[in-house]
Amino acid sequence: MRPTGAMHLGHFFGALKNWVKLQDDYETFYMVADWHAMTTSYDDTSGFSDAAYEMLFDWLACGIDPGRSCIFKQSDIPSHAELFLIFSMITPLGWLMRCPTYKEQLREIKNHDINMFGFLGYPVLQAADILIYKADCVPVGEDQLPHLEITREIARRFNHLYKEVFPEPKALLTKSPKLLGTDGRKMSKSYNNAVNLTDDEKTILKKINSMITDPARIHPSDPGHPDVCSVFQYRKAVNTEKSAEIEGACRRAEIGCVQCKKMLAEEISAVLAPLQDKRKKSKKKDVTDILTEGKKKAGAIAAVTLEEARKAINL
Ligand code: SF4
Repeated sequence: MRPTGAMHLGHFFGALKNWVKLQDDYETFYMVADWHAMTTSYDDTSGFSDAAYEMLFDWLACGIDPGRSCIFKQSDIPSHAELFLIFSMITPLGWLMRCPTYKEQLREIKNHDINMFGFLGYPVLQAADILIYKADCVPVGEDQLPHLEITREIARRFNHLYKEVFPEPKALLTKSPKLLGTDGRKMSKSYNNAVNLTDDEKTILKKINSMITDPARIHPSDPGHPDVCSVFQYRKAVNTEKSAEIEGACRRAEIGCVQCKKMLAEEISAVLAPLQDKRKKSKKKDVTDILTEGKKKAGAIAAVTLEEARKAINL
């Protein structure tokens, strides 16, 4: 995950909850992708370090456990960069230029020039990040599947050209809701439309109250359509047990939007309260120690794979 600072509900329901569960069944590696952050923010890197700490405080508060997971920073493991260089020699430009997220971001990011070599090569670096640990699986959302496919293609191409070194990682598709921001756009801190994991009850209520509900529901006596209401999408993510009840009540006009939003804000606050308590106890020093430990563990594994790759290409 790129170091984007404090996390929001989209991160929590879309990734972190799942990452926490994966620790029960897999040997897990979680990386602060600071080089990746440079692909779009190369002109202002001043906040990267603080953002990484803020993000890690949230990871730990959500239940990412340094006793069970290897937590490390990408730029602490230079082997990623060397493997990226090797892979970049064998990756056809067409694979990268066809990547849907590449085309989409070029279209969408208008405020600064991201037309850089590093940005185009982003999926190659990602392949190095994954393959250097010979990962069997990568937890991804549907929109990241094309990236993982490039990783699999690079592994295949390397193995075919030189020697069988890399397994082809499988996607662990996360069945999690994709939460939009409170204004209906993609949830992002830069759009100021996110409910942050650190928000207090009052702030959460204010943000939820600002959300647009079913546009066809003018009066509380009008039956609602939860399927087109973004408040209801949040509800489904937060409290699946109550969803059916609220859905029925909304359709029968037995509940008004003001009450529905208030209940949702209270439930979000209840979910976040224990996380916020845990976060308050986190110390920067502990996070630094976790990263130092992660650097040692990840670095040792990465060095072995890199040596294998070098041998395979007779370097
Ligand atoms: S009652 Fe709730 S689910 Fe129904 S339209 Fe209003 S906010 Fe949405």
